[in-house]
This record gives sequence, structure tokens and C-alpha cells, in this order.
Amino acid sequence: MDTDEYIKNLSQQVLRTDASGMPLEWIDYRDAARLYYTNQVAYACGQPLYQIHGGFSAATGERSVIEVNSIIATIGHSTNHAERRNNYVPPVNNKTLFRRDANLCMYCATRFSERDLTRDHITPVSQGGRDVWANVVAACRRCNNHKGGRTPEQARMELIAVPFIPTYAEYIYLKGRRVLADQMEFLLAHFPRTSPLHKRLSGHLGTDRLKQSC
Ligand SMILES: [Zn+2]
Repeated sequence: MDTDEYIKNLSQQVLRTDASGMPLEWIDYRDAARLYYTNQVAYACGQPLYQIHGGFSAATGERSVIEVNSIIATIGHSTNHAERRNNYVPPVNNKTLFRRDANLCMYCATRFSERDLTRDHITPVSQGGRDVWANVVAACRRCNNHKGGRTPEQARMELIAVPFIPTYAEYIYLKGRRVLADQMEFLLAHFPRTSPLHKRLSGHLGTDRLKQSC
């Protein structure tokens, strides 16, 4: 299989959903092509990203071409994924944590680049605090150093927002690289209505919303 068109978009991740439209995961163009070739794509939404050229048919001499969209729904329901949707607690890592907190230090409310942020344990590990979503926030180095091994109360510091455990759909968003506007809208529709991410992301959607085709 080779790919001689739309090559600049090949790094763009595709959002895979189940047949009912529940977001499942990010996949790359190879995975997307495999799903098309094995007839597992129920329908596609969003914008066309790229075309993938397959082999030549021995019978007709024609070459197969697959057009891959930004969101593809696949047939079947995986138990694994179904479980994940209900009681899934995603693993904590800095990338998704900083993204949950919109790259803001949760103490001084200043925005930082990823490399200037740290993972702060609200109740410090030394005081029995755990490394879980509800006990970690993004913090700049200065605030984290100042807080040291103390709780916010002990350090007389205040959090600007309550930390939350992302749902599965929220976690997919947090994990995404370069999430396209149509993928973002799709994911937003699956966030809980009370999700703080609605507010944090509203500034990013801008005016150039792409038309949603499903
Ligand atoms: Zn700070």
C-alpha cells in the first residue's frame, strides 16, 4: 500500500467510534486503512483527510482507493470499550493532566508551556496523598516549590479550580494530538454537561467551525 496524495495530512489522527457513535480511540492512517479493507467501517463523518491507494485488482486492473475521513464509525461493540465508557478511570500522566487544566497553574492561574509545568499532589505523597486525578493539578515550578511538602491549607494557597477525573470521552480528547474542529465538536457532544472542559475549550473552537456531517 502506498500513499501518494494528501501526504501532508497523513500524520492527522482519525477518531474511531463504535457503530452507535461512541468515541473509542485515536487511530493512524494505517489502522484506518486496515478497518476499511476488512470491511469494519460502518460509516464515516467529518471531513475527508486523505486518500490511500491500495493494490491493483487482478480481475479489472483497477486500483482501489480509500478515502479516509476524520471520524469513522466501526461495526460491532467491544466489551472492553463498553466497560471503559462506564467505569473507566484513565491513567494519570503529565500531558493529559496539563491539558485537563488548560495549561494553567492551578495556584497562580498563569498559563505555561508544558515543559514549565509540574504535577502537584494537592495532599502531598509524604502526607498520604495519592497519585490520582482528584489529587493532582498542574502547577508552575514557582508555586510547586513554594508549596513544598504542604497541603494548600498549610501553605495558605488556594486552588483556582477543583480537579476532576476525566470521563472516557474527555480522556480521548485530552490524549489527542492536533484535534480537528469537527473531531472536537464530536467529542464535546459526549462530554458530561457539567464538564469544566466546555468552558475551558470554548475559546478554542473559534468561528471557523467545520460543518458537521453526521
Ligand atoms: Zn503558579
